[in-house]
Amino acid sequence: MKVLQQGIRRSGRRMKIIAKPNNNTEKEVIDSDIYPRPLALKSELKPRPPVVTVMGHVDHGKTTLLDALRHSSIVEQEFGGITQHIGAFSVVLESGARITFLDTPGHAAFSAMRARGALATDIVVLVVAADDGVMEQTLESIRMAKEAKVPILVAINKIDSPKANIERTEQMLMEVGIQVEKLGGDIQAIPISALKKQNLGQLTEALVLQAELLEIGADPTGPVEAVVVESKLDPNKGKLSTVIVQRGTLRKGDILVVGTSMGKVRVLRDAEGSIMKEVTPGYPAEIEGWKDLPSPGEQVLQVETEKRARDVIRVRQNKIAVEKQQQDAIVISEKQAHHEKEYKEKLNYKRSLGRYKLKNEGPRKPEIPKDDDPTPTLNLIVKSDVDGTLEAVLDTLDTYNSPECKMDLIHYGVGAVSENDIELAQTFNGIIYAFNINCPTNIQEMAENLNVKIKYFNIIYKLVDDVKEEINSRLLQKE
Ligand code: GDP
Repeated sequence: MKVLQQGIRRSGRRMKIIAKPNNNTEKEVIDSDIYPRPLALKSELKPRPPVVTVMGHVDHGKTTLLDALRHSSIVEQEFGGITQHIGAFSVVLESGARITFLDTPGHAAFSAMRARGALATDIVVLVVAADDGVMEQTLESIRMAKEAKVPILVAINKIDSPKANIERTEQMLMEVGIQVEKLGGDIQAIPISALKKQNLGQLTEALVLQAELLEIGADPTGPVEAVVVESKLDPNKGKLSTVIVQRGTLRKGDILVVGTSMGKVRVLRDAEGSIMKEVTPGYPAEIEGWKDLPSPGEQVLQVETEKRARDVIRVRQNKIAVEKQQQDAIVISEKQAHHEKEYKEKLNYKRSLGRYKLKNEGPRKPEIPKDDDPTPTLNLIVKSDVDGTLEAVLDTLDTYNSPECKMDLIHYGVGAVSENDIELAQTFNGIIYAFNINCPTNIQEMAENLNVKIKYFNIIYKLVDDVKEEINSRLLQKE
C-alpha cells in the first residue's frame, strides 16, 4: 500500500514536469515532435528522377514490364549485376534521364502506402492488355490513381498478340474516363510489348516528358526526408528496408526516426546490391541498421543525435497512449449507453408484461389455482428500491424453469409495498418479496389481517434461497 502511494506521487510529479517545465529547453525537447520542414522554395529545387508505380489488371503484363525495364537499364548492362528485389529500382536511359520504379506491382502496396499517408509515386503506369481491354482491376487502378491525384500514363501492352486491338482498348479506356491523346484527350498511351521489349524506349521517354511537365524536383540539402517502400527481415543482414529519398541526401551514419522506431544507417545498397555512398532525392536505397522494422508508407526523418531520436519517439509514444486512452473511453461509454438502452427496453418489456398480468389481459395471465390443478404454483410479487436491483432480482428469477412447480410473477415494481400489492397477493395466493425496502406499519398490518406473507431481503441469493424453499414446500405438499 505504501509503495503504491509512493508510486502515484512520483508519477504525479513527473507528469507535472511535462505539463509545466521549469526550463524551456527541456520543454522543447520533451514536447516537440519532428515534422517535415516547410516546403522548399522553387529556386532550391533540383530535378530528380520521377517515381513510377505500375498498376493494372492481373495478367496484363505488369511483372513482365518491370522485368523488361529493369534489364533495359544501361547501368545494368555495364556492370552486369543481378538485380535483387528490394522494392524499387532506378534505370538510366540512353538520354541520361533516370526513372525510379517501384517493383511491387498491383494496388495492394499502393493502397497500403496511401493509407499510411506517404505515397512515393509521381506517375502511375496503367498497363492494359490490348487483347483483353479494360477489366475490373483496370478500373480499380484508375480509381485509386485518381483518388490519390497521381497522373496516369497508359501502356497498352501485348501489341504483339494476334488478338491485340489497340483502337478498341483506347475506346474502352475513353468510356471509363481515360481520354488518350489520339482521341483528343491529354493522357499519353504507348502501345508496347513487354514480352518482346517493343517500344519500351518510347514508354520511358514519355515518362520523362511527363516528369518534366510535372516539374518534378527536390531539395537535396538539409535533413533527410524519405518514405519506406518495403521492409524485410534478412537472416544475415537483419532488419532491412527500402526507402525512397524525398529530400536531403542520405548517407552512412545518418540517424533516422520512423514512427516510434529509429535507425542508424550502417549500410546503403541499391537494387544491384552495390554499396552506395549517398542517396539523393528520387532514388531508392536499402538501409541496414534499423532497431525495428518500419512499415511501407511510413515517413522517415533525419535527426541530429540519437538522444533527439529517443526524445521524439517518447513524445510519439505518449501521443499514441493518449489517443488509445481516448479511444478506450469512447468504446466504454458507447458500451455503457448500449447496455443502459438495452436494460431500459428489457425493463419496459417486463413492466408491460406485469401490467398485462395485473389487468388479467395477457396471454400468460396467472390463474387462480384450482383445487384440481395437479401442478403446484408459486405466485410472486417483487418490489424493490431501484430499477437496477429490481432488474437483478428478476434476472435471477428468470432462470427458474421446472415443470414440477410453476412460478408466476404476478406483479413487480419499484417502490414501497402498496395496498394494491397486498390485494393482488391475496387474490392469487402469492408471496410479496420486498427487496431493499421497508413496509409502512399500516401496510404490514393489512398484510397480516389478510394473511399475506411479505418477506424482506437485501441479498439476492438469500431471496432466491427462500423462493427455492417455498417451491420445495409446495412440492412436499403435493406429495
Ligand atoms: P501481371 O499479372 O500483370 O504481372 O502479368 P505478367 O507479367 O505475369 O504476365 C502475364 C502473362 O502475360 C505472362 O504469361 C506473360 O508472358 C504474358 N505477357 C506479358 N506481356 C506480354 C506481351 O507484351 N505480349 C504477350 N504476348 N504476352 C505478354
